[in-house]
Amino acid sequence: MLTEHPSAAPDLDTLTARAAALDNADPLAHTRERFLLPEGVVYLDGNSLGALPAAVPAALEDAVHRQWGTDLIRSWNGNGWWEAPARTGDALGRLIGAAPGQVVAGDTTSVQLFNTLLAAARLRPGRRLLLTDPDHFPTDQYIADSVGRLLGLEVRRVPAREAAAVLAAESGNVAVAAYAPVDYRTGGLHDMAALTTAAHEAGALMHWDLCHAAGALPVQLDALQADFAVGCGYKYLSGGPGAPAFAYIARRHQQDFDHPLTGWHGHAEPFAMSGTYTPAEGIGRARISTPPLLSLLALEAALTAFDGVEMTAVRDKSLSLTGFFLECADALLDGLGFTVATPRDPKRRGSQVALRHPEAYPLVAALTARGVIGDMRAPDLLRFGFNALYVTHAEVLHAVRELQAVVTSGAHRAPEFQERPTVT
Ligand SMILES: *Cc1c(COP(=O)(O)O)cnc(C)c1O
Repeated sequence: MLTEHPSAAPDLDTLTARAAALDNADPLAHTRERFLLPEGVVYLDGNSLGALPAAVPAALEDAVHRQWGTDLIRSWNGNGWWEAPARTGDALGRLIGAAPGQVVAGDTTSVQLFNTLLAAARLRPGRRLLLTDPDHFPTDQYIADSVGRLLGLEVRRVPAREAAAVLAAESGNVAVAAYAPVDYRTGGLHDMAALTTAAHEAGALMHWDLCHAAGALPVQLDALQADFAVGCGYKYLSGGPGAPAFAYIARRHQQDFDHPLTGWHGHAEPFAMSGTYTPAEGIGRARISTPPLLSLLALEAALTAFDGVEMTAVRDKSLSLTGFFLECADALLDGLGFTVATPRDPKRRGSQVALRHPEAYPLVAALTARGVIGDMRAPDLLRFGFNALYVTHAEVLHAVRELQAVVTSGAHRAPEFQERPTVT
């Protein structure tokens, strides 16, 4: 059974009225117009690829035709291409509690992760352990292992909830703890402040992966005294497919940041064309080389969807959406083979809801065919992500009703929903 209190489940009329009331009172109702959403689609996969912000097509048109086509190489100075990584980094910094001059945009999450994790570990010589989460996104675990091999560190996989105890027991031995605030599968939220404090008490550095947090909930990197962070631009930040990622390096570490990829854009005087590397001052030394400018300019334009929006308002709306999804699921999916994988306690929930069902893949495929887009993670999770800037409560109810219709009719048993494509 899905709900602990089945008799208290509201009926459909009550849920419909509640959705309307919540949408009418939504302080972020106006930001939906900042996105170009396809007709007839309920999009609950913004935690994998954010929807298209309305500002992006015009920005790309300008980047291609005027900046590239007409201004050509002059754009590096004339159109601010050189400053774009740090400028976009500062715009991102506002969303993750980082004062200007500590975030740079460019490259991919995996590349930024490799650089910052390796550089962090180099700041703690003589310590033999690197802690990471066995439930961390695969790329984060693979890269931690590679960093471990390069520096001769033991990579120990410790679940987030046990990490503080292990840090205390191994005080003096841990170089870096590398975790994510949000579990990408269940949407469970970890206590960033507690884990950062535990790392520091053990003399270790704290590295956060914000892929499922940036743009989804308030993150206060400076206030937490986090050391390093990375995150991608294409999930809740809606920067587009392959959008550049970002890296945060706390100001106090910048002077000693020894960049593993000493590319020419991180040089103090890139156009002196020196044969030896002298790192730039400040966050500029976290740069590598020529960034993918079209993607970077698209990301910069995408971030304007957050103009005038406080992350606390995003969080309130997000919790309202996920809470309402759970309420609808309790009322409409009870007894249909689902269980809830996401914590019900709002303080422990990110911006997604994951349901378990043995037929997760065909259910998601059949739902997609009906215009409700979520995704699945093997073996049995259906994931629904809620971007507070464009998802409505009415859509949440519609999605759960469609899921109920699919599972009760058996529509997902049709042959076309059994074959898994490469990307799920
Ligand atoms: C999405 C995600 C990634 C993706 O890495 P890419 O280099 O952008 O492919 C990495 N880590 C986490 C935690 C993620 O959620």
